[in-house]
Amino acid sequence: MPLAYPPFKSCPCGTGRSYSHCCGPAHDGSRPPATPEALMRARYCAYALGNAPFILATWHPQHRPAQLTLDSGTRYKSLSVHRAQGREVEFTATLKVAGGETLRVHERSRFTQLSGRWVYVDDVTPPTVESSGT
Ligand SMILES: [Zn+2]
Repeated sequence: MPLAYPPFKSCPCGTGRSYSHCCGPAHDGSRPPATPEALMRARYCAYALGNAPFILATWHPQHRPAQLTLDSGTRYKSLSVHRAQGREVEFTATLKVAGGETLRVHERSRFTQLSGRWVYVDDVTPPTVESSGT
């Protein structure tokens, strides 16, 4: 089950807006993300909140895994979106894994629209992972 997240708290994706004015409406289905960047943020946020159903639902059917298990020991620390252009979004997500190691995952993601909704397709280039600390 996804974690409940207080609607007034600032959104885990780092826009500075409250969850109810940021990724919340994407997660509850009341307002599908209007741009690839908004979807990318909502997906990051879903990882942070353990919302696997949202991640799968916004993954292109031909590319998504049959199932997705999120590691509950991973903490999603921050997201930086470097560039959002056309159907691509380049970002770095910083996470802390269960062992205490901090990983910076840099990826260029590709999105497309299916029936008027944005979905994640895949990474344009394999993500690079840089680790620090233990
Ligand atoms: Zn957000």
